[in-house]
Amino acid sequence: MSGQVLSKQRRTNDGKGGRNISIEYMKLLCAFLVVAIHVSPLQSINETADFVFTRIIARIAVPFFFMVSGYFVLSDCKKHNGKALRFLKKTCILYLAATLLYLPVNIYAGNFKDISLGQVCRDVFFDGTFYHLWYLPAVMLGMLICLMLIRAIGEKAAFAISLVLYVLGLVGDSYYGLTKILPLLGKVYDEIFKISSYTRNGIFFAPAFLMLGCLAAKTNERKKEYSQLITGMEAVIFFLLMAGEGLLLHKLRWQRHDSMYILLVPLMYFLFLWISRLSCGINSQKRERKNRKSIGAGRKDMGNGAMLIYIIHPFVLVALRGVSKPLGLYDILVENTLVCYLAVSLLSAFAAWILLAIYHLLGVGKKKKKSILPELQTDRAWIEIDLEHLKWNVEQIKANLPKGCKFMAVVKANAYGHGDVEVAKFLYGMGVKAFATATLEEAVHLRKNGLKGKILILGYTSPENAGYLAKYHLVQTVLDENYAGQLNEQGIPVKVHVKVDTGMHRLGEDWRNGDKILNIFQYPNLQIEGIFSHLCVSDRGEDEAVLYTRKQIRNFEQVLDKIETAGYTGLKTHLQSSYGTVNYPELQCSYVRMGIMMYGCLSSPDDEVKRELSLKPVLTLKARVALVRKLNKGECVGYGCTFRAPYDMMIAAVTIGYGDGYPRNLSNGKGWVLIGGKKAPIIGRICMDQLTVDLTGIEDVKPGDEVILIGEAGRAGISAEEVAAAAGTITNELLCRMGSRLGHIVAQNDRI
Ligand SMILES: *Cc1c(COP(=O)(O)O)cnc(C)c1O
Repeated sequence: MSGQVLSKQRRTNDGKGGRNISIEYMKLLCAFLVVAIHVSPLQSINETADFVFTRIIARIAVPFFFMVSGYFVLSDCKKHNGKALRFLKKTCILYLAATLLYLPVNIYAGNFKDISLGQVCRDVFFDGTFYHLWYLPAVMLGMLICLMLIRAIGEKAAFAISLVLYVLGLVGDSYYGLTKILPLLGKVYDEIFKISSYTRNGIFFAPAFLMLGCLAAKTNERKKEYSQLITGMEAVIFFLLMAGEGLLLHKLRWQRHDSMYILLVPLMYFLFLWISRLSCGINSQKRERKNRKSIGAGRKDMGNGAMLIYIIHPFVLVALRGVSKPLGLYDILVENTLVCYLAVSLLSAFAAWILLAIYHLLGVGKKKKKSILPELQTDRAWIEIDLEHLKWNVEQIKANLPKGCKFMAVVKANAYGHGDVEVAKFLYGMGVKAFATATLEEAVHLRKNGLKGKILILGYTSPENAGYLAKYHLVQTVLDENYAGQLNEQGIPVKVHVKVDTGMHRLGEDWRNGDKILNIFQYPNLQIEGIFSHLCVSDRGEDEAVLYTRKQIRNFEQVLDKIETAGYTGLKTHLQSSYGTVNYPELQCSYVRMGIMMYGCLSSPDDEVKRELSLKPVLTLKARVALVRKLNKGECVGYGCTFRAPYDMMIAAVTIGYGDGYPRNLSNGKGWVLIGGKKAPIIGRICMDQLTVDLTGIEDVKPGDEVILIGEAGRAGISAEEVAAAAGTITNELLCRMGSRLGHIVAQNDRI
């Protein structure tokens, strides 16, 4: 298998999993922009220039912070619930600490005289416990709103609602002038301002940018090809347009506050995309991985540093004002706003740096060291799935189907041990839109993991579970007329395919009971989409078997005729599984139900088929050498002492057993493995978790070496067919027995 192991690295490939260096730099820049908003550096030089700088340009800073949270926390809140909770907890602690820090300043300023409970609530939940701290309750409240919306109505609708809230917020902010035109509106906003001094808060402001960050993450995941130049230009264009918007509103004197602009939304979207992709290129990815160890901590400090500067700078400003007066430096340090800005910025950065140094010295960050542990690898015994081979097989099979016949992928029993979600979603991506499972649980599992398309349940589902069929848009097989009646009785409309027994005598209404079959069509709650049967000797080439299969086909056609005559048309039909497809390629149905051959295997090694396909096995089974030891002549190995060394020999214990699905009846020489490309026979009995092999003739084996149980190594190979035959079974059974304890590695050659 030559594919790159992707499943474990995918998280970093979108630049979202780890820290993104350009986003960290931008956070730092934004922190200084916020300082600018509070110091107005150009005020002593030119009023308009200051307006443009602090009331327009610097207005990207806080939305950017929101977007970062949306990008990293919201975008996979469905999968990682803990992430959002951790974020909320961390922010809450930070808010408490910041509130304590500003307590003396608040007391000194006399903010606690005649304070009411309403005011306290307003400050804590909306305005912030100091003028800039509104951001912390806002990001928490906004995050909660977004989480609830996403859970209730999905991402897209949540984004739409966040935009509606933003528009409502606009009227209380930059577009307050509208309330002069519509006085009634003004009354409404007066009420709002009793609860929160601005609409720039966790309800009207934060959700839009949090959702926008989430959207940017999805865009980055989806779109691999993009032009940074175009994204950058889009950002610049919206930047200029927003400057126009801001100046116009300023001139009209419409602004009650100036945090929110209409064009801020598209501007932030493109700006964020542009910045987040700066460090997402392939080369920088490699570089990032290489540098992760050395600069990982520094990068993290940068992001935390930005937050500290944000929190500290008003304190620094107050201190600077207080200290410069007695020193006689007030004119230079405070009155000159540009100098004041530089001083506050530098001092805040310095203070942040010192705080971080103390934090590291105290070893608070030591706990974090744990996370340097590499991701837990399930590399004791594992399967590797080659999606390229899967793709190859599907294309081979598809190319041989008659026109109009579609591919239904059978993904029952965890996709024959290959991993149903990975396999099914990959197939969906390459155009397969119909799937079959054996059970309701399997089908629901796929849906819950986001599989779209048709899913047909081939086996029994309790009629009482009809509600789940409807809820998850599943198609149930009607097992016979009696079952149809029971399913109908639930009173829930469900989609079904009717199964006809044409000679296998397992499931299906008997083909001879034409009236019963027609009766199934009378049930109002059964929406019949298809009709099918199953061949039972289509894998055999003997005359008798062929005759039997032809009879089955005729029986099926007879039923179809009868149904058509009764006026039921447009039904989907299917009859063939893997062997039926290659041995009776002339059959013209709507689907073939493809199982074992899609996974690149025949059921047994010597099966002959009419239409030869060159299939490639998708699954490889591997384990490791646990230890190498010497067995003296006459010593035995394993339970029951069934193997005794005929001479002094080297043996190895291998990290796989029947607990992993490897058949126990391959004990004592019936099975063999590959170590270093050479065959090593299994000796003694296979245990639940280990097996032992004879290393005679194989040099230099050491603990940790890879052992192949199914798969290829150079020119040597052990096919699933061989292993299955040696164990007295077929590959279908061998593969679907692969244990849940096995590690799972998905490789995909074309995505390197
Ligand atoms: C399992 C199954 C298949 C797939 O069979 P393969 O031989 O693995 O292709 C098709 N149809 C039905 C009804 C099945 O149960």
